[in-house]
Amino acid sequence: MFDVAIIGAGINGACVAHELTQKGKRVAIFDMEGIAGGGSGAAGAFISPKFSKEGELRELLNDAFVYSLAFYTENFSRFLRKAPLLHIAKDEEEAGNIRAYKQDTPLVLCTPPKELLARLTPHAKTQESVCIEAGVADAQGMCRALCKNAQIVRLEVRSLVYDDGMWIINETYAAKEVVLATGAYEPLLREPYNPIRGIWGHRIDVATTTPNDFSLHQFVSIAPSLEGTLAIGATHNVHYHPQKNKEPYDIQAGREELLEKASRTMQLENVAVLKDYTGLRSGSSDYMPLVGRVVMAEETLAAKAQRFDTKNPDYELFSYYPNLTMINGNGGYGFVLAPYLAKMLSEYIVSEKEIPPRLVPARFFARWARRRK
Ligand SMILES: Cc1cc2nc3c(=O)[nH]c(=O)nc-3n(C[C@H](O)[C@H](O)[C@H](O)COP(=O)(O)OP(=O)(O)OC[C@H]3O[C@@H](n4cnc5c(N)ncnc54)[C@H](O)[C@@H]3O)c2cc1C
Repeated sequence: MFDVAIIGAGINGACVAHELTQKGKRVAIFDMEGIAGGGSGAAGAFISPKFSKEGELRELLNDAFVYSLAFYTENFSRFLRKAPLLHIAKDEEEAGNIRAYKQDTPLVLCTPPKELLARLTPHAKTQESVCIEAGVADAQGMCRALCKNAQIVRLEVRSLVYDDGMWIINETYAAKEVVLATGAYEPLLREPYNPIRGIWGHRIDVATTTPNDFSLHQFVSIAPSLEGTLAIGATHNVHYHPQKNKEPYDIQAGREELLEKASRTMQLENVAVLKDYTGLRSGSSDYMPLVGRVVMAEETLAAKAQRFDTKNPDYELFSYYPNLTMINGNGGYGFVLAPYLAKMLSEYIVSEKEIPPRLVPARFFARWARRRK
């Protein structure tokens, strides 16, 4: 029997596996596609903060950025390439956000290197921008390294049954605890308040004779990948879903969109697309991730002692799946958030350290229960 079974070996599951094995837990990690076979394998894996207006998402992402960059540097530097990141405004609204950001961010900003500025298109050069020391991870290599002390089981989990104090997986494996890290895939537990949705993305690796050692973000990101090529990404396509659309995804149109957007920031010479990466990233309806226990809606509603028409219900009164938690909804910042959230989740699992209420899945149950008649 395992102490913990993690379902999903993307960056979220992999970071939880790392934290729990470091804490001496016997961990199995299940994935039907193998390590980083989902959204994580498609990611450009840029480690960057969010250059937006003040708010709880920006605050979370900035804290996670500082934590995760140090975490990867200290523990997995082989799979991280550090490079100054220049984020350039796309439009006037973003220019205003960047100006405000530069005034009030606690993060240390840098001066953009002259060689980098020289390579920008004339229009990009005139736009508001902000520069910071950031990084790009090798998505596959990083996930594999994070999982190295866990038992990896390549298997589609179809059934999860709690029986006699343990979780039984596909009637075969047993674990005291389960962590769901299944990204934008079909949820294993069907709860009516589930806020997770998948957003399709496409990125490419290209060979080019234009040298570039820096990370640039504007309409898309352009960054050196670990193999000496450039990574360009990603599109954000809410109209395509691999399980819902009848037509296959149009790779050629996706490439053209990525290259056209990149060309507005930097003129790349003699470009050849080497590899395409596509996948779904999972986001939540309030854009914040979900970390912690999962509410059993039916059981909670049946306990009539509670009121759901209040803005601040007591989450402790809800009914939860026993010894089961989730980590999901990282949006376009999976590699930034995962180490930070996995630390929180593992501390909750091992020593019941409280997870901030703004991150717990119970908030979505509470909103759903308040709205229903
Ligand atoms: C094109 C693209 C570019 C991106 N670029 C960046 C970036 O630059 N920086 C960044 O930080 N983030 C980026 N992201 C976002 C990032 O990839 C995601 O936030 C992150 O991968 C989510 O990780 P995850 O572990 O939650 O999900 P996933 O990586 O999707 O992992 C979920 C895993 O669960 C497995 N699974 C699901 N159900 C089952 C089941 N029943 N049984 C067994 N296995 C199951 C799947 O096979 C999958 O491997 C990008 C995403 C895309 C698509």
